[in-house]
Amino acid sequence: MFELSHFHFSAPLALALVATLGYLVGRRRRQADGPTLRSRRELRRAQAVARELERIAWMVRKNLSRHHASLSRFKDRVGSLSRQQEEEAWKDLCREANEILTPTLRLATQIATAYDQIRQQTNHLMAFSEVRTDPLTGIANRRGLEDALATQFALASRYDDRFAVILVDIDHFKNINDQQGHLHGDRCLQQLATLLDESARETDTVGRYGGEEFLLVLPRTDLEGAGMMAERIREKVEKETSLSISAGVAAVVDGDTAESLLQRADAALYQAKSAGRNRVFRHTGQSIESVLETADTAMGA
Ligand code: GH3
Ligand code: MG
Ligand code: MG
Repeated sequence: MFELSHFHFSAPLALALVATLGYLVGRRRRQADGPTLRSRRELRRAQAVARELERIAWMVRKNLSRHHASLSRFKDRVGSLSRQQEEEAWKDLCREANEILTPTLRLATQIATAYDQIRQQTNHLMAFSEVRTDPLTGIANRRGLEDALATQFALASRYDDRFAVILVDIDHFKNINDQQGHLHGDRCLQQLATLLDESARETDTVGRYGGEEFLLVLPRTDLEGAGMMAERIREKVEKETSLSISAGVAAVVDGDTAESLLQRADAALYQAKSAGRNRVFRHTGQSIESVLETADTAMGA
């Protein structure tokens, strides 16, 4: 007999559908907007969604075949009854029809409700990610970054979790725009966003802080680690693109606010620009120093 319990929308199934819809809609929009951001993160998300889809397809197929089997049994009964035409058999038939139709109707209502909920959740999900995503580059925007910073400050005060930030600014970007046009400038921003995103860990947040400024929020990372990462990124940009970047690094200290932390990163960035650009400086809390100089000193150079 048809078993309704196998077909109801479980929470994971509903979530999987929401994730799938959100992912597909997001992808289509990004494709329509221009080049997609093919980050490792997106690939992993796509793989997870594909696995969920496979599971959903299997469940739907299983439940449909159950339903199909009970309907064909019903059809066989109707076929044989046309020959018998007995009163008792008609009653049996009605009871059986009822048994099939009642859960089917209940199922239809459940599917309609679940569909409404999924649509609502997808809208929330899309609205949530859309207001936190930069449309040009596909990475977090300033609001997304502010959320990430707020989370890190909450973790810092509750668990004493330390974190660091890297503020990145493209060197002489105005010249690039002036000499090669804004469209080329936009493509440079997309290219750098992809490079930064691919250089970061899954738990890091990479976002566009302003026009040609990017911010990386690095959980459980100290000043030294963040400096090394920034230097690696600077080298990669120099090697793999026609751009160069300057970066300022700062790590959270007691009594910090998002504003004071970013001010230190900005002061370090300013020093990197003043020292000739295409370099990384870090703010220790007391002073500002070049990341390379400190690495050289540490190596006894
Ligand atoms: P510096 O090395 O000192 O950072 O010089 P800069 O020219 O990069 O700095 P400045 O702040 O003078 O110029 C930033 C430029 O970034 C100016 C603006 O035209 C450009 N810009 C900001 N947002 C966008 C954008 O979305 N697309 C493009 N193509 N350009 C942008
Ligand atoms: Mg700038
Ligand atoms: Mg600049």
